[in-house]
Amino acid sequence: MGAGIVGAAIAEALAGTDRSVLVLDRSRGFTGATGRGMGHLVALDGSPPQLELCRLSLDLWRRKKWREAVQWNPAGTLWVAESNEDLDVARAKKAALAAGGVDSDLVTAAELRRLEPLLAEDLAGGLLVPSDAIVYPPAAACQLLEDAAQKGAKIDLGATVTQVGGGRVRLARGEDFFSRHVVIAAGWESSHLVQDLARGLRVLPKKGELGITWRSPLHVRHQLVELGYMRSTHASSGDSVAFNAQPRPDGQTLIGSTRSLSDSTRRVDPKRFARMMERAVRFLPFLSRQSLVRCWSGFRPATADHLPLIGPHPRDPTLLFATGHEGLGITQSLGTARLIADHIGGRSLAMDWTPFLPGRIPEGSDHE
Ligand SMILES: Cc1cc2nc3c(=O)[nH]c(=O)nc-3n(C[C@H](O)[C@H](O)[C@H](O)COP(=O)(O)OP(=O)(O)OC[C@H]3O[C@@H](n4cnc5c(N)ncnc54)[C@H](O)[C@@H]3O)c2cc1C
Repeated sequence: MGAGIVGAAIAEALAGTDRSVLVLDRSRGFTGATGRGMGHLVALDGSPPQLELCRLSLDLWRRKKWREAVQWNPAGTLWVAESNEDLDVARAKKAALAAGGVDSDLVTAAELRRLEPLLAEDLAGGLLVPSDAIVYPPAAACQLLEDAAQKGAKIDLGATVTQVGGGRVRLARGEDFFSRHVVIAAGWESSHLVQDLARGLRVLPKKGELGITWRSPLHVRHQLVELGYMRSTHASSGDSVAFNAQPRPDGQTLIGSTRSLSDSTRRVDPKRFARMMERAVRFLPFLSRQSLVRCWSGFRPATADHLPLIGPHPRDPTLLFATGHEGLGITQSLGTARLIADHIGGRSLAMDWTPFLPGRIPEGSDHE
């Protein structure tokens, strides 16, 4: 259930095995987060299990043969320090990444200017993670679905699921399907059909806004992210913005991003968006002279403890969750698919998924 990047990756991982695979999605395009995100494939060190899933996923991304079709760009991430305090954050990040097996290099202020001449001159330095990359998310999801279909998966778009449980899936158009496993990969709407999860494990829509410039000969070389980004991503109340900029292959610059748990409208909020752009201009002054051609919003599927839900429902083993990746769903899609495919195929898991299991919090409890 769900043909965003997570459902697409799971279909591709399962197709061609001894299972028959059916992908159901209400929409006919990538109308969920996959069509509205940024496509930064990033090793994030919010917690050891989060980093391990990123690393597994990045390894799987690098093994894929497709490059041009998904606009693969092995640019790496340049984390930018605004102040000396941020340099302490950079050093701590370097240590956390190293503990998870990811190499990175501290960068002085002078090196930062050499690596990214368009950055503001007063920045303190940064941290370069060369193994991170960029893809165009809808193209990657499309490629995964095409590969799944070639290996025999059936893809049924325009199929709204209204009920799941006990191995049965009911569609709005009146059909029922029966299966040993039903994977819920419906993004921020994943818990709508499963009401009895502990409240703390519900998937919530965390809104994000992005803007993109027109083509320009001036563009950045790496995915740029401010080191204050983690403070913004983990804010569980209120709105926040953090600077994030991505080079697109045609000379455009994709600029992010905002976060809000309290705004569930699709409308781009002008005040929050303006704050995001001010932040972007603070780091990349050239942006003040560029034209913005489009802005939009999307909903990240968020959980209260910032970890995805991957694995069986605590009381219905036919229902498998693969959701709640928040701002890491593009990155972690392939690792998630690998874990689900290992489970269904009866193989030992590629990594310990205990921290992601939907039963991690006792029912009835509430850790929001
Ligand atoms: C602004 C923004 C920036 C982001 N940047 C990044 C980034 O740089 N890197 C990164 O790794 N991640 C990023 N993300 C997060 C990433 O986009 C998401 O985590 C990921 O796309 C989630 O994919 P998904 O397949 O779980 O959900 P979705 O893409 O939302 O797909 C869910 C699908 O389920 C379908 N569905 C829902 N309910 C039903 C139903 N009842 N019946 C049938 N179908 C149903 C929907 O139609 C939809 O197609 C960003 C997100 C946003 C919003």
